[in-house]
Amino acid sequence: MHCPFCRHADSRVIDSRTAEDGASIRRRRQCPSCGRRFTTLETSSLTVVKRSGASEPFSRDKVVAGVRKACQGRPVSDDDLALLAQQVEEAVRASGAAQIDAHEIGLAILGPLRQLDEVAYLRFASVYSSFSSLEDFESAIATLRSDRSDRDPDSSAGSDDGEASGRADRAGSASLGGAVEPEQAPAH
Ligand SMILES: [Zn+2]
Repeated sequence: MHCPFCRHADSRVIDSRTAEDGASIRRRRQCPSCGRRFTTLETSSLTVVKRSGASEPFSRDKVVAGVRKACQGRPVSDDDLALLAQQVEEAVRASGAAQIDAHEIGLAILGPLRQLDEVAYLRFASVYSSFSSLEDFESAIATLRSDRSDRDPDSSAGSDDGEASGRADRAGSASLGGAVEPEQAPAH
């Protein structure tokens, strides 16, 4: 690692510590030539492949920017968005792949966003899953309702299993989103 001050071709590691979330290592380095110290941050590389075929490094900021639109006017704070982006990064890194499709990031957003705000979730899902009709919204809302009553059996009066096959696609994408929620991932 070159010294950022004098461009000396070498540097000495004087301290290493794992960041709180375990996803990166901070190294304190000292230049043997000019003696100045600097810090490097080491993370495993994670490349996102876009639909166009172009690739770019994973960015939490881009996750936040994508979700922020869906959260307009909703009681969602910047801290909430930062935490969501962290959960998304942990989920996609947990797969162990160095390269992922942009589509998988959208999928990883659905679960935590649903926990955060159901209206924002519906907005995001409607764009991500290309809802094209009122029926798409209805089935997504039906899935949210039935999952709620699964969690709380006392309020299951309105659930209707006759519709189950009709909403299987939407339910599938929603529950896939749920499956990559960090609290359900085995990594910790
Ligand atoms: Zn130097």
